[in-house]
Amino acid sequence: MTFELRDKDLLGRIGRLKTKKGQIETPAFMPVINPLKQIISPSEMYYDFGCKIIITNAYIIKKNFKNFPAIDIHEFLNYPGVVMTDSGAYQILVYGEIDLTQEEIINFQKNISTDIGVILDIPTGWDLPRAEVETTVRETLRRAEEAISLIKDHEALWVGPVQGGRHLDLVSESAKKISKMPFQIHALGSPTEVMERYMYSVLVKMIMTAKLNLPPNRPLHLFGAGHPMIFSLAVALGCDLFDSASYALYARNDRYLTPRGTIRLEKLNFLPCNCPVCSKLTAHELREKIKSERELLLLKHNLHACMTEIRKIKQAISEGSLWNLVEIRSRGHPALVSALKTMTKYKNEIEEHASGFKGKGIFYSDHLSLANPNLVRYWKKLNKNYGRPQGINTLLLMKAPATTPYKENDEFKIFITELKPRISEKLHICFYAAPYGCIPSILSETFPLSQFEIANPIDQETMNITITKLIEYLEKSRHSSMILYRGEEKFDKKVEEVFIKTANNISAKQITIKEKNPWSIDELSKLNSKLEQLFATALA
Ligand SMILES: [Zn+2]
Repeated sequence: MTFELRDKDLLGRIGRLKTKKGQIETPAFMPVINPLKQIISPSEMYYDFGCKIIITNAYIIKKNFKNFPAIDIHEFLNYPGVVMTDSGAYQILVYGEIDLTQEEIINFQKNISTDIGVILDIPTGWDLPRAEVETTVRETLRRAEEAISLIKDHEALWVGPVQGGRHLDLVSESAKKISKMPFQIHALGSPTEVMERYMYSVLVKMIMTAKLNLPPNRPLHLFGAGHPMIFSLAVALGCDLFDSASYALYARNDRYLTPRGTIRLEKLNFLPCNCPVCSKLTAHELREKIKSERELLLLKHNLHACMTEIRKIKQAISEGSLWNLVEIRSRGHPALVSALKTMTKYKNEIEEHASGFKGKGIFYSDHLSLANPNLVRYWKKLNKNYGRPQGINTLLLMKAPATTPYKENDEFKIFITELKPRISEKLHICFYAAPYGCIPSILSETFPLSQFEIANPIDQETMNITITKLIEYLEKSRHSSMILYRGEEKFDKKVEEVFIKTANNISAKQITIKEKNPWSIDELSKLNSKLEQLFATALA
């Protein structure tokens, strides 16, 4: 097995990719190394930055060092880690075409002993008419087919790129067809311009379309992704590898990378980072450095920022909080919030792959948290597995207490103890709470209901979804009598409205009891007497 899965959360995973040079842990960011000019050496990246994999351009090496009979890329770069080589496809994207055949560039990558090689695909780019996009997809697939005999039995891992750009039907076709070929890694081509234009929603659709049509046991590389602000999103959607020169390009233009976006050096009054560069300097001192020194320092910071974010993502995967991290990062830019909204359209697919409980509770901020896979999973399970217990016809729907787990709430425990058994055995007790809707008390000690924090007051979208889910459960469980025990807030009034309406729809008897402090001992004791009266008369 080339790729071994170690842990997962959402579609993101921690994996081990085995190459002939050794194994690397994914997700991994690989800095692009210019073979002609390096500001910091690849070995410094390996030892001081933890870059265990880098990428360089085989085409540029071949053009400039053609008289070297046998180059070993690791010796050439003096780098002890894993080296991936790009084929010159990027130069095709920029210059239209290159003066090498696929066979030449594949053989060259083999000769320089690359660990991960790429076929000579045709990147789709951004602004092409549909007919030309179709050509890039067809030609990439034809070349992939042609490459199979060239790479067969070669010890490097080979990458089969997916093209199609923003044309999702073509991305899907491209992914399906290349899946059938014996590549060990796939890559999504052409997202660079999409990212440069901050079209992260389009990026989400492109990645999800590719991901859902590619074999899950092969890593997915996102070409040209090099900003820490999008790593968590891309990992959450199933990308395992990233490469970019942006750490260096941004440094050249006096730009400082942070996981919340890019800051121009002249706007930087403080250095919000603890890397070796930022902990030794002030923003003012950094600005005052001469250009070459400043560029070097910024480059180092930018690379640290990328590597640190990858480590944060791995920690989030291991503790099951990747969704939280994606939510936090998405607040850094409205385009990322749009991406998160687009991501919610794939909530079912994401939930199917999400890990189960890892000990981390849900933090619910607002409607952007609605696609949290733990919530989606709760609704699916509730719908499929739970309803009115057999032989019980009366529902007691209570406003949820303020502390979780609800069943362990002190006031609730007193209420239950005081309830006469002849009454309690006739009641199906449920709680209503945002954003879940209905929570049968029997489930209230299970995850995610037991470990859960919500920001109050809830927003309108959260209220709407809560109400929808509540109605679904009430309609499905069809009690003949329904008792609502509510508070006096706006949300409680809304619940009563739909409670009455639903009861009428299913022809159930209903009654509402409302209290200002429904969870005070006194009010609960009144509820107890009221239940006794009700069971003695109407509900008996
Ligand atoms: Zn720094």
